[in-house]
Amino acid sequence: MINIESIRQDFPILQREVYGKPLIYFDNGATTQKPRCMVESITEQYYSVNANVHRGVHFLSQQATELHEGSRKTVQQFINARSTNEIIFTRGTTESINLLAFSFGEEFCSEGDEIIISTMEHHSNIVPWQMLAARKGITIKVIPINEKGELLMDEYKSFFSERTKLVSIAHVSNVLGTVNPVKEMIAFAHGHGVPVLVDGAQSVPHMKVDVQDLDADFYALSGHKIYGPTGVGVLYGKEEWLDKLPPYQGGGEMIQTVSFEKTTFNELPYKFEAGTPDYIGTTALAVSLDYISKIGIEEIAAYEHELTTYAMNRLKTIEGMRIFGEADQKGSVISFLVGDIHHFDMGTLLDRLGIAVRTGHHCAQPLMQALGIEGTVRASFGLYNTKEEVDALVAGIERVRKMF
Ligand code: PMP
Repeated sequence: MINIESIRQDFPILQREVYGKPLIYFDNGATTQKPRCMVESITEQYYSVNANVHRGVHFLSQQATELHEGSRKTVQQFINARSTNEIIFTRGTTESINLLAFSFGEEFCSEGDEIIISTMEHHSNIVPWQMLAARKGITIKVIPINEKGELLMDEYKSFFSERTKLVSIAHVSNVLGTVNPVKEMIAFAHGHGVPVLVDGAQSVPHMKVDVQDLDADFYALSGHKIYGPTGVGVLYGKEEWLDKLPPYQGGGEMIQTVSFEKTTFNELPYKFEAGTPDYIGTTALAVSLDYISKIGIEEIAAYEHELTTYAMNRLKTIEGMRIFGEADQKGSVISFLVGDIHHFDMGTLLDRLGIAVRTGHHCAQPLMQALGIEGTVRASFGLYNTKEEVDALVAGIERVRKMF
């Protein structure tokens, strides 16, 4: 059992008020709030360990390097990668996917090749592939969904051909909350010799992710969605794949030797990390991951599942409630509309009650088109949310509904 009251004390922002009301933060899908230990680690590093990593013989640089590389180890263990060589630090999920779309595309894709994504992808798992399509003439195949917001697996399986080069799929939808059967999808893709990238932006904060168990070839995540700092993310890649891929950006850190005639590239993971890394951010991310591990990701998953089930049941009692995404396997994200009330009006009025929800297309416009709507209101939960807060959301929605 996790102690929510004590956890809430670790997040100073939860004590604040907005419009004179206690803040209820239900926008965790966009970004999570930050525990004090993570924030303090940033100040502490800038005050006492700051130096550029990897290059210095001096004490501070070595200490900063140890922290930065130690963070890589923490990430490796957190997602159970085989080696720290498989952990590439990026700015976030978006950059991780762009990195792969560029490097994989350069090496393995040519005109007429195909990659598979799904209807429920975030723009960051659509647009980089469209950019690749424009560069290389590849085709993007899109797995449709059923009315519960689940992928149609037969369609997925029917897409494979000798031109299929890669599958890139969200582990958890940021709109529908659907937890996709990525392990099964990866096994199927591997049966055709096709690697899989999993967009883990919405999964890693909410469930145990074991990249070896999934047998994922690539896995992308964002630090800020897992109680860490903004501006740091990860691309996990199997070493055998990363070894075959060309660098994404050129510059310092990613080289072995440079001359005007010929440059040789660094070994993994540095080959993909041009320039000074956000070493303060990576170290702070490790502090967040340690914080999560201490509470227990499985405990967090169980708690959030209970909270989401409670919220689903309560929200369904509201007249005119339409919930988008009722998959059998659902994460802690609930998208909805009530009657004819515009999502923006609902969000704005809830905000006046101190309740932060997200409104709009959630960077998933093709999914909105498939659902035949313009946008939704989205409540997404984190480990510090409570049933009382859900009750306040339900009461708030009822109040807004009566105003219309
Ligand atoms: N994929 C999904 C499923 C997401 O929810 C998000 C963030 N909303 C992203 C990718 C992009 O993450 P970031 O903006 O941190 O790069």
